Amino acid sequence: MEPGIAQEVAQGVVFSEQDVFNIRAPVESRGMSTGPNPTVPHPALPAQVMDMLTEYGVTRDIEARTVLFRQGEVADSMFMVVHGEVEVYFEEGKAAKTLGPGMIVGEIALLTATGRRTATAVTAGPCRLKIVDRATFEDLIRREPTLMCRALQQACSYLVDSEQLLISDLRERNSQLETTLDYLRRTREELDTIGVMAQTDELTGLYNRRCLSDQLPKYIARAGGDGLAVLVIDLDKFKPINDTYGHAAGDLVLRQVAEVIRETVRSTDLPCRTGGDEFAAVLAPATEAVARTVALRLRKAIAEREIHSLGVLLKVGATVGGTMWREEDDVASIVARADEYLYAAKVAGRNRVGWQGDILED
Ligand code: GH3
Ligand code: MG
Repeated sequence: MEPGIAQEVAQGVVFSEQDVFNIRAPVESRGMSTGPNPTVPHPALPAQVMDMLTEYGVTRDIEARTVLFRQGEVADSMFMVVHGEVEVYFEEGKAAKTLGPGMIVGEIALLTATGRRTATAVTAGPCRLKIVDRATFEDLIRREPTLMCRALQQACSYLVDSEQLLISDLRERNSQLETTLDYLRRTREELDTIGVMAQTDELTGLYNRRCLSDQLPKYIARAGGDGLAVLVIDLDKFKPINDTYGHAAGDLVLRQVAEVIRETVRSTDLPCRTGGDEFAAVLAPATEAVARTVALRLRKAIAEREIHSLGVLLKVGATVGGTMWREEDDVASIVARADEYLYAAKVAGRNRVGWQGDILED
């Protein structure tokens, strides 16, 4: 049997400051949230019950900050406060419940199957207590069932009320948590939007040059041996469209060309506007045959697109340069090579595809 506190208290055992500190530490020293502490008034016992416990309990005067019992210990007694106050700690990080004269503490553990304390009790200041040990408690149940029943009824209704307060406290915390989660969700969505904006060309909605630089290495790593091609596209004589029909008409042309590129490549490819009237597309995975076909199809589709701006039919040609990825390539080298083939196709007369040193025929 573990030594009971009733015995210890009777023998004048007073717990050290350190013991008391250990009890108080969760609340005061560890910076944990104490949160709202739901309490219900703990009712004093009916006079007859108090008289009975006064008669059968052993009177003890106990010093301040004495631990009466600790959570988890096997219970061997209950207490009634005569003078002073007892603090009861049910859970770490929660403030204590304070019990005053005419209130009992420690009775529940005498009734449960495990017989273990569900809380820790400490005297708040000097206290006079009536201590009723287990044998006397059980004897009283037999001899004074009505009075004991009233005492225990009161203890039970106190527990139920406390429990209900705890539930509403938990509900409130839950709703605070949901509000916080909502806020975090919104923040994440905003960050996602910012991330997407940073990778998107504002005018056309295609990916931008930054995205091409970020993503191309990943596409290369993923493509492995399946092949990858880079196409670059520059509109032919685009400046005169701006000069003749205005910048807004030029913007419309850029958006329509973007639409054509988006429609022509697959969902696994990466269509980009890299600046001005320059576009690019990463095709992956792609064999050389597929990449050449896509390059030709793109040139043709752009050239055939009819763009109507304020009653005027606009058409624009595009020159395409393209190359397959090679083992020794990095982002700069593969894009530079595609640019080189584009330039060759411009020199060859525009509105055509320069593919790795050749000018492709439809
Ligand atoms: P080339 O066939 O040699 O490519 O001739 P080009 O006229 O297309 O010449 P270049 O590619 O150098 O011209 C690009 C033009 O694109 C120049 C600039 O005025 C125009 N431009 C650049 N950004 C925008 C834009 O956001 N909107 C519009 N409307 N025009 C733009
Ligand atoms: Mg151009």
